[in-house]
Formats: sequence, structure tokens, C-alpha cells
Amino acid sequence: MNLVALPAFEDNYLWLLHDGARALVVDPGDAEPVRDALARLGLQLHGILVTHHHGDHTGGVAALREATGATVYGPAGERIPGPYQALRGGDAVNVLGTAWQVIDVPGHTAGHIAYYAPAVGGAPLLFCGDTLFSGGCGRIFEGTPAQMLASLDALGALPAATRVCCAHEYTLSNLRFAQAVEPGNAELIEYTRQCRALREQHQPTLPSTIGTELAINPFLRSRQPTVAKAVRAHAPSANDEVAVFAALREWKNTFR
Ligand code: ZN
Ligand code: FE
Repeated sequence: MNLVALPAFEDNYLWLLHDGARALVVDPGDAEPVRDALARLGLQLHGILVTHHHGDHTGGVAALREATGATVYGPAGERIPGPYQALRGGDAVNVLGTAWQVIDVPGHTAGHIAYYAPAVGGAPLLFCGDTLFSGGCGRIFEGTPAQMLASLDALGALPAATRVCCAHEYTLSNLRFAQAVEPGNAELIEYTRQCRALREQHQPTLPSTIGTELAINPFLRSRQPTVAKAVRAHAPSANDEVAVFAALREWKNTFR
């Protein structure tokens, strides 16, 4: 199986997974880069996996379905361009011979879902849309901080080797914030060096892994004493884990 990050818009990635003949695409906000890749690689599109309703994740769905006849999968709790197979947490769908487990990850949007498979080409793979980014997490537009924390906990509990396919290249700016939160995190400093080198070569920093994110991402580390202490220096009244997480997200929203 081949995993390809197709750049779109300013900083989106449309993830394409293929076996040389058949493909699936995740969150095609734009049809054109997907059509180009299918033609260039000689692939037939079998499945379109959608994580949430935002336009930069759904704008190309209808055109691709029409052009290819691919089946569309998406969150039962949100409206995306239909017809599509509506999924909720605990469901499993078979696409490209792989059983994808659906995980509910509300927070960025109310019905956001993620797709996980334990063995794709020998390693676990996660498509998490705008819930988890490398070094960061999505903004909480429709859900609550408690929901987002629980969603990130669910993703953080996946195997360390899980490849994390996020929908945006936000890594370097996220890492700048992460270093403000945890200036003494040696793994974070080393990871930042690696990501800078990749961006200088115009390469994606993604996929990341769950193991890496647990070591460097403040939003998966909000219960760590170093992170909680840094947050309380900004928000002294944050006195439980949800309040600390909420204050961390607030701090990032205003960080320059
Ligand atoms: Zn979004
Ligand atoms: Fe997005």
C-alpha cells in the first residue's frame, strides 16, 4: 500500500492510499489534485472517506463521486454532500480490503470522526482530519474542551507506531507554541529540527506517529506536570484537567 499526501489550498493534505490499481482518498476538499493523481498513477478511486463537514474537507466530494462512482463515507452526525454511507464510532467499513474502524472524535466539530486500521502495509494508520495535528490540535468550534480532551485521549491510546495522517501542514507553527509551553523538552527540540529540515526541502512533516505526538504535543501532554504548570502560570484558576486543557487551547488561540 502506498500513502501519498496531495497538497491542496494553502496547507491542506488530501491523503491518497493506493495499491497500484485501486485508491481511497480522505477529505478531498478539492477534486482537481485527486483527479490529477489518479490519472498520473493510473488508479481507480473506490472510496472517499470524510472526517467532518468543513468545506476544505468536502468541496471535491460530489465531483469525485460523479467522475469515479466511488462510495462516500462520512460522519452520521453531520451534513456532507450526499448520498453517503453514514458512520459513527464503533462502526467498521471495508475499503480497499482493509477494515477501517470509526472513532468518534467530537470537539473541532460536533460529529467529527476518525478512521483507524491496525495493519496497513504492516503498520497501523490513522486519518484524523482536524482533530489531532502534529504538535497541536484542531480549534474547538462546535464541541467542548471536555469532548476534545476525550477525543485526543482516544487517539493517544492507539499504538505508538500508528502513523498519524493529519489534514493540515501546521507543524512548524504548532511546534513554536509547544516550545513556549515546554522549553525543556529535549525530544521536542530534536523533532523541531527534523521538521524544519523537511520543510526546507518542501517535504511534508506528516505522517507523524502517536509515539512522537505523546512525546512532543502539549495537547496530548496537558496532564504532564511541566505542561500543567506552564498553563497555570497563564491561567491560575485552571484547577482541574479539563480547565487546564481549555486554558492551554485558549493560550494557543492568542499565541503569536
Ligand atoms: Zn475543519
Ligand atoms: Fe481543515
